[in-house]
Amino acid sequence: CGIFGVFNHPEASNLTYLGLYALQHRGQESCGIVSSDGSSLHAHKSMGLVADVFGNPEIFKTLPGRSAIGHVRYSTTGSSVIKNVQPINVDYSRGSIAIAHNGNIVNAQIIKDELEAYGSIFQTTMDTEIIVHLLATSKQNSLLDRITDALSRIQGAYCLLFLTESRMVAARDPNGFRPLCLGRQGSAYVVASESCALDLIDAEFIREIEPGEVIVIDKNGLTSFFPLKKVEPTPCIFEFVYFARPDSFIFGKNVYQVRKEQGRQLAREHKVDADIVIPIPDSGVPAALGYAEESGIPFELGLIRNHYVGRTFIEPQQAIRHFGVKIKLNPVREVLKGKRVVVIDDSIVRGTTSRKIVKMIRNAGAAEVHVRISSPPTSYPCYYGIDTPNRKELISSSHSIDEIRRYITADSLGYLSEEGLMSTVGAENAGFCTACFTGGYPVKFPRLMDQEEPQ
Ligand code: 5GP
Ligand code: SF4
Ligand code: MG
Repeated sequence: CGIFGVFNHPEASNLTYLGLYALQHRGQESCGIVSSDGSSLHAHKSMGLVADVFGNPEIFKTLPGRSAIGHVRYSTTGSSVIKNVQPINVDYSRGSIAIAHNGNIVNAQIIKDELEAYGSIFQTTMDTEIIVHLLATSKQNSLLDRITDALSRIQGAYCLLFLTESRMVAARDPNGFRPLCLGRQGSAYVVASESCALDLIDAEFIREIEPGEVIVIDKNGLTSFFPLKKVEPTPCIFEFVYFARPDSFIFGKNVYQVRKEQGRQLAREHKVDADIVIPIPDSGVPAALGYAEESGIPFELGLIRNHYVGRTFIEPQQAIRHFGVKIKLNPVREVLKGKRVVVIDDSIVRGTTSRKIVKMIRNAGAAEVHVRISSPPTSYPCYYGIDTPNRKELISSSHSIDEIRRYITADSLGYLSEEGLMSTVGAENAGFCTACFTGGYPVKFPRLMDQEEPQ
């Protein structure tokens, strides 16, 4: 998911719309904005893409005020239905509050069971809703104390934005799994999942919000707190591999440069005699550039992506082979014909896309197809906010690299090593979560919701 907030700007909801637009890659299922006019909150939320949900300028008249928060959703817990659209906004005994969440709370079910035993009634199936109940039932008086009270109960991954009538609060979990940054636009403060959203609205990047930090912004300015127990931070390495936008600056680094270095390292680890290097667009592009640069093999675009593919399309009545992939990607025969091709992608999840793409490249006349992946095999599910499937569906959790090579019908297959990946992010100086590659989960789960126990 992606979150964005503005405090103290005359066009707060409009800027939030633009911010969400820049964060669209972090979630395409649904989106929403809640604004505050100083005395009450206003919401507009729906299923669909930001441009569709907020396409009509009249909507911004229903979102008045000088502060707003927004959310783009990609479901990890709770199904993709309208009642699960964020930000969640509620009225309770102390006024109104809205919450936007990126991440995944691993002890949500335990807390939910407890709260339900005491009479709480949940309206959504999202883990985020437990925060609302913890806030409402907290015995503390100040907003900051109630938020601290709630945060001290939850475990896992969260970047949160809270909006009340008069305040905006940002919080990042002590492990710092997901990115969150702070910026300034004139006299307004801005908070965003990724810096690319600050760029779009001409906001100045101030700094990243630190793991475990809670920032309160109100009419008196900004105050920073570290109310939770400190732990060694473990930001998500997969943000650098796939999830974040290449133009963003997260965890102290520019994503594009890290991805390009992953490609260079991949070339050092898995050399091959070939004529061209091509990316699987868009996610494989920076790594393919790095691979080409390091290996000296020319970079080409052998697959062209259609960028206008919506989430739903009508399948043809007659079966067209590989339809799902073809609607997104089409080979350039003149580039591929007779060539020994290195194909670069960021990851193999189920293996279905890679298999279809290798066939597509061969059908276009390639002589050899060598697949190179700019991360280690994805063998374990993520419980911290990335929607990887369970172990049964992850091809590398039950197959050797050679079995995967045969399944995707490649002439050779090479994955970036774990050490190689870590070297691209300066891991000598900082810890990272690498659990989807290693199974070493930095935050344990008290009880798993309909998912098998990881190793
Ligand atoms: P596969 O067919 O192996 O399941 O899919 C691999 C492709 O999915 C890669 O091109 C990669 O960029 C993309 N991918 C990796 N992780 C994710 C994810 O969490 N969500 C989505 N939508 N795509 C992903
Ligand atoms: Fe990121 Fe993987 Fe850790 Fe999930 S398990 S937080 S995707 S590194
Ligand atoms: Mg991809």
